[in-house]
Amino acid sequence: MDVDGARRVILAACPVLPSAILPLGDALGCVTAGPVVAGHDVPSFANSAMDGYAVRATDTATAPVILDVVGTAAAGSAPGVEVGTRQAVRIMTGAVVPVGADAIVMVERTSPADEGGGRVVIDMVASPGDHVRHPGEDLRAGQVMFEGGTELGPGHLGVLASVGATTVDVVPPARVGVLSTGDELVADGRPLRPGQIRDSNRPMLLALVERAGCVPVDLGAAPDDEEAIAVAIRAGVTGCDAVLTSGGVSVGDFDYVRTVLDRMGDMHWWQVAVRPAKPLAFGTVAGTPVFGLPGNPVSSLVSFELFARPALRQMMGHPELFRPKVPAVAQEAFRRRPDGRLHLLCVVATLDDENRWHVRSSGGQGSHLLRTMALANALALLPDGDGVEEGASVEVLLLA
Ligand code: AMP
Ligand code: MG
Repeated sequence: MDVDGARRVILAACPVLPSAILPLGDALGCVTAGPVVAGHDVPSFANSAMDGYAVRATDTATAPVILDVVGTAAAGSAPGVEVGTRQAVRIMTGAVVPVGADAIVMVERTSPADEGGGRVVIDMVASPGDHVRHPGEDLRAGQVMFEGGTELGPGHLGVLASVGATTVDVVPPARVGVLSTGDELVADGRPLRPGQIRDSNRPMLLALVERAGCVPVDLGAAPDDEEAIAVAIRAGVTGCDAVLTSGGVSVGDFDYVRTVLDRMGDMHWWQVAVRPAKPLAFGTVAGTPVFGLPGNPVSSLVSFELFARPALRQMMGHPELFRPKVPAVAQEAFRRRPDGRLHLLCVVATLDDENRWHVRSSGGQGSHLLRTMALANALALLPDGDGVEEGASVEVLLLA
């Protein structure tokens, strides 16, 4: 199975989640479920874009002119005194433009005409509309502000707040359970007994899930025991929108995840033509997508990136599922042997002054070498063949 083939099967089984109405504060990064309409005009009244004086533009035609100051308009105050002929109102940014005025003269183009501030010198000719922000100039009541399928960023949340929305109809973040498996795993800082290792996949996968915009759900670590694995997977598929397991999907004697998932769900078992990451299980258990990721940490991360992340993004309604793929200059030779598979290397990608990407290996490329993975910010894609020479172009997936 090649990467695209596996992805097609996975994506077909991961439909978009039902929409939900979330408070604005919980909607950052979510995708709108449908068009979002403005509840009222923004601005909802004509207001001043400057601190200065509200005037009748015609009165300034012979500037410099002296006008009588008949009041003050502050932001937040209800409309006050009207502006008559040869009159002005002192006005602050955001205040309602008084009836009768049609222009604002910024304070820097004025000076007091007397001690008491009762009269002001306007030293420029204003045109009607100068520094007036008109009702509906930004948004009109009933206007579609954002189409469905829009990822909400901080600016979108600001716009929603500006029309009085306190909630928004979005595809909610997927709840994603993460289960480690293996008799050898120790989760906390306890001393290791012979043969034990620490569970590094669970914190890594929980963090990858969180970065993908999902709600991570820690399902713990199960020993290599069919009943324990079954109990944990059942809990996961009941409480989550998707489940990731790591380990136990190969053909080793104690790889019970495979046995259990086959019994509980409708699974595919693939040797994907990719390295690292090749043993991959995917299917549904009680309708919930389950990804059986490999145990080796680098394989686990690469499988997540290639297969789980795009599927989770699709479930959350994102129009763009995949990481950006860019050409980069190889700063060293990346050698490989032809074996019919795509090879992925953990690399450090940097941009030069001319905005060209350059990549170098982040360390030894064994699928058990965790630090290499942590130091990488990209994966170089080496197609089947002998590899890439120093200075040649190579495609990379940017992970950060
Ligand atoms: P498995 O797929 O269960 O045969 O595991 C493959 C390799 O990954 C073995 O060396 C395991 O010890 C290791 N491994 C499995 N799960 C984890 C984990 N959660 N954290 C770190 N290493 C793991
Ligand atoms: Mg195992």
